[in-house]
Amino acid sequence: MRAIAVTPLVPESTRLVELEKPEPGPGQVLVRTLSVGVCGTDMGLHRGAAGQAPAGSDYLIIGHESIGRVEEVGREAKGLAPGDYVACPVRRPCADNCLNCRRGEADMCLTGTFAERGIKGQHGFLAEYYVEEPRWLVKVPPALKDVAVVLEPLSVVEKAVAQVFAIQSRLLSWEPRRAAVIGTGAIGILAAILLRLRGLDVYSFARAPSGGARTRVAEAMGATYWSTADLPLTSVARELGPADIIIEASGNTEAALAALDALGSNGVLCLLGLYPQEPRQEIAAGRLAFEMMVSNRLVLGSVNGSGRHFEMGITHLAEMEQRWPGLLASLFTRRLPLSEFAQAFQRPPGEIKTVIQVTEE
Ligand SMILES: [Zn+2]
Ligand SMILES: [Zn+2]
Repeated sequence: MRAIAVTPLVPESTRLVELEKPEPGPGQVLVRTLSVGVCGTDMGLHRGAAGQAPAGSDYLIIGHESIGRVEEVGREAKGLAPGDYVACPVRRPCADNCLNCRRGEADMCLTGTFAERGIKGQHGFLAEYYVEEPRWLVKVPPALKDVAVVLEPLSVVEKAVAQVFAIQSRLLSWEPRRAAVIGTGAIGILAAILLRLRGLDVYSFARAPSGGARTRVAEAMGATYWSTADLPLTSVARELGPADIIIEASGNTEAALAALDALGSNGVLCLLGLYPQEPRQEIAAGRLAFEMMVSNRLVLGSVNGSGRHFEMGITHLAEMEQRWPGLLASLFTRRLPLSEFAQAFQRPPGEIKTVIQVTEE
């Protein structure tokens, strides 16, 4: 079978490899991969900035955002049948078997020694086939198969929004009305859609000028797009009113800090970006700490999503398709055949989500 692999930490080692088609064990199923989404994490693997091969292997099959179809079921594998569409959560419990991993919440791992398929220690899904145990697979209704490749990034957003609402149960009553989402990659757009589904007024922020594809996507879901060139984040509270929720999904450290100024009383800022460790930023720490304290503001980080967030995502994908037909499809700005995988790492302007079509149905 064909697969796309990297030699971890070697820049631009991404290549097409020919491998044996995997055989499912008695407790596993064989999945035929239909399509795989490419994101910033894959860019990092391609650049050689991250990644870890499975033990005993000198390469790593990449790809962690997938939709596939069950093709073969091992004799002891329960709950799935050939023809079922499946998505697959990425993280697996840590080597230290910590409390959270033991309880099925590996996205809240305490030790960091977890594995992640296609990223860290286990092969991913950018291959014609993969094998997995049914407990790690999430069944996707056939009606959603063409959009379900966004389930993995959506699970990240589902977790983040669920965390925000869980945390806000600290208040006797909380009725959020206004949300800002910074960043218009797939994560930012999915966060905006999810908050719109919850009935909030949503402002979507990015650097790109107003009037382009970002503006049209925001308008299609009833959100408002703002270019930070026209409205800096530090002016948002004054111009649009303070936000109850801010999701920072641009990975820009200055935006993350400026977002604190856009937050209202009791507001929550959730950080979802891949923030660079350098350069260092100079901040008005005293003023920020004082304002955090005096208005009960809260900042949280959130990463990954588990099977239950995939399940939440499936419910919401169906609602999104019903409420805004064609909106999700408009996020797939490029579909590349497997043989043209290299193009996925050159991102044209206006790109939202590139998908590699592994198998034509
Ligand atoms: Zn991703
Ligand atoms: Zn753990």
